[in-house]
Amino acid sequence: MLNLIAERLRVIRQRLGAAARRAGRDPATVTLIGVAKGQPVAALREAIAAGLAQLGENYVQEWAQHRAALSGAAERGSRPEVNWHFIGHLQTNKARRLVGQATLIHTLDSPRLADELEKRAAAAGLVQPVLIELNVAGEANKAGLPPDELPAFLDALNGLSHLEARGLTVLPPAAPEAEAVRPWFRAVRELRDALNRKNVYRQALTELSMGMSGDFEVAIEEGATLVRIGTALFGERS
Ligand SMILES: *Cc1c(COP(=O)(O)O)cnc(C)c1O
Repeated sequence: MLNLIAERLRVIRQRLGAAARRAGRDPATVTLIGVAKGQPVAALREAIAAGLAQLGENYVQEWAQHRAALSGAAERGSRPEVNWHFIGHLQTNKARRLVGQATLIHTLDSPRLADELEKRAAAAGLVQPVLIELNVAGEANKAGLPPDELPAFLDALNGLSHLEARGLTVLPPAAPEAEAVRPWFRAVRELRDALNRKNVYRQALTELSMGMSGDFEVAIEEGATLVRIGTALFGERS
């Protein structure tokens, strides 16, 4: 089908804008990230050509493949600039490959990973923007920091000058319908607001990375500033 992805992008942007307005928010305060995992390069290219400027990657290896394939297009002068977001579980031994390459790392979830990222960012002479991923429901099979450890973790991050925490990421427990996850999104926003009021971290946490294909409108109504959308934009993953 011709321009299927461009059409889906248009519809998602429309839904995103409507959700923002329902919440009295400016749609420009919500950034759409296209989640590239399991997607063919042709689909990514089509979305970029249609104006998508942010891509999210879960795996360092697949990310490298996508970048290599898309940079061919850049040489031919047809690729606008893409910002890369790392949204997958990050192992400490891969941290070095992300620092300075990812616009934003959404999945900082342990003091050990923070120390490693700090070390790599310091060595590269840069400040790496990060989000802290929370495991809100204490799910054993999921990554993320327990919310009750967040204040102490943020206090420790105050001492790491080469990391800049911008906000929080959450993947709520799977639910049959989007409304069921609203309380999780709301709780994360309220937690963020409370931490900001107490100035626990050295700067305000402004970003909330929450919402995927099935629940991004609810997430936006609850304050999401970054939504991560894969299948609704690119179709089913291989
Ligand atoms: C795969 C993935 C997404 C996208 O999920 P869809 O349901 O396809 O939109 C978003 N966030 C993370 C962390 C993911 O791993």
